[in-house]
Order: sequence, then structure tokens, then C-alpha cells
Amino acid sequence: MNKQEIKRTGIFNKYIKNLNFLNEYGFVQSKKNVYICPICLSNHTEINTENPLTLEDAPPKSLGGKANTLTCKKCNNECGYKIDSHLVKRMRDLDKPKLLPNSSIPIEIKIDNEIIRAEITIDTEGNQKLISSLKNNNPNILRDRIKKGKKIEQITILREQIKPDNLEYALLKTAYLMVFEKFGYLFILDKSYDIVREQLTKPNQRIYPNGFWITQNLPESYCGCFILKNKDIKSLTSNFILDTGKSKTMFIVQLPLPNLPINISISKKLEQERKMNLKFYPNPNIERDYLFNLDNIKELKVNIE
Ligand SMILES: [Zn+2]
Repeated sequence: MNKQEIKRTGIFNKYIKNLNFLNEYGFVQSKKNVYICPICLSNHTEINTENPLTLEDAPPKSLGGKANTLTCKKCNNECGYKIDSHLVKRMRDLDKPKLLPNSSIPIEIKIDNEIIRAEITIDTEGNQKLISSLKNNNPNILRDRIKKGKKIEQITILREQIKPDNLEYALLKTAYLMVFEKFGYLFILDKSYDIVREQLTKPNQRIYPNGFWITQNLPESYCGCFILKNKDIKSLTSNFILDTGKSKTMFIVQLPLPNLPINISISKKLEQERKMNLKFYPNPNIERDYLFNLDNIKELKVNIE
């Protein structure tokens, strides 16, 4: 077995064991001895079938994520293409105006009423260069205009084509898979999570409420899954950093809590309270096992009610 196979088998066995454990103590009622794909809930008794279980990165690998869960190949492909790609493009777009070292930024220049495609390149020391792209126009036009003393009237940074909603669903997907990674099947098999899966599998329709995420500057120890315990906000959150390799942004994404209507869990209050102190349970500085530790799960349940 190669490294990837060992990792897949380890995750497969771990979450089957978690499902059996949760069934044994009455936290969930489901089939035993199966791995359930967290996105489509298909049951798998083996890793390799015609729809095999594949390593899934949350956050996406190109944004610094690691693969700690398995989804079925069908879900992995569909979500990657329809959802994750939008987030990756947007995060790279957000870096562009910062003119960060070691990057090249596609731009359009307006000079003497002519639009010219070009690129700003920034080396590791931060030195900037303007390069007129050979690919999209005659490089002599720019040289010619500058020689004639024409001033650049406008520089526009070219952005990727993305669907803003799908970008949000990518945040939701990462948050959801983190909840699965942390708590196993404890939350995701609850019917309150149907809406999350429905949104992930139907990115053409808006199903999940608006205003379920914010960015926030918190210490890295706040990455992970928590219960948000502010007076007016009750939800689960997944906190994570997206790392483009050039910049890091921390996201706080709200997920449902069992027995609490989604419009109460998520009601734009997060946005209103972003300047207040968000209160998280459990303490971010203590690592706890919620897959197999009965006491931790019981204490968590008490804190949800
Ligand atoms: Zn699936």
C-alpha cells in the first residue's frame, strides 16, 4: 500500500468505528459497519468500488487545506468543479490589488484611447515591472504610446469569472467537512444538516440562508469547530484559514445546531456582532476528542441545549 492508500484506509476505518460507537450509545440510528459519504450519504462497505471513496481536502488543497476525510468520487468531482474552483479563483483575485511579492497580475491599460492587455510582475524583492503581453496584443503599441509621451489613463486589474454564490457554497463545504472530521457522524446525520447537503449538491439554487460567514482576525488556535455561545447567536461554527501562499484569511462559517431552526441559527447576527467578542465553546486551546470520548460528547450535548 502506498502512503495515500494507507491514509484512505485509516480514515475509512476510523469513521466506521465512530459510526458504530455513536450507534452503540444511542446518539445516532443508522446502519452499522459502513462508511457514509458525508455529502450524498451513500453507504460504502468497501473503499474501492465503481464509485470509490477518495481523499477530500478541506479547505481546498490549493488554499492550504489537508485531506482528512473521504467523500465518494462522484461528490468529490462534482463539488470540486462546481464549487471549490470559484473560491480558489476569488481568493487569488483578492490578492491581486495587494501587489504581493512573487506574483504576476493580469491588467488592462487604457492609453490614448487604446485598451492594452498587460501584466504587472513583482519579484521576490517587491520590484514591479509592467509587461505588455505578447499573447493578446501587439507589444509595440504600448511602447509606441509611451514613447510619444502618452499618459496611462487607467489600469484595470483583470478578475476571474466566478459565481459569488458558489464561492459561498465552497466555504460551506469546507465548514461542513470540518464538522464531519471533528465530530464524525454526530451532527451531520441529524436532519438539521439536510439543508447543508442539499445546498452542496444543488449549487444552482440558493437554499442556505444568507449571512452565514464572516472573516475575522483571530489567533490560529481558534481554527476548528466550536459552538458559538453569544447571547443572540447560537450555532456551530467552523473556523479556518485560507492560505493562497501569499496571504492568509480567517473565516468563521456558521452551521446548524440540532433542534434549532436554521433561520434562528443563521440570521445575519454574526455580521452585526463581528466587532464584539465571539464566545466559543470548547476552549480553543484544548484539543478534545469527540469521535470516541463519551464524556466529551455528553458535555458537548449539554452545552448545546
Ligand atoms: Zn457522495
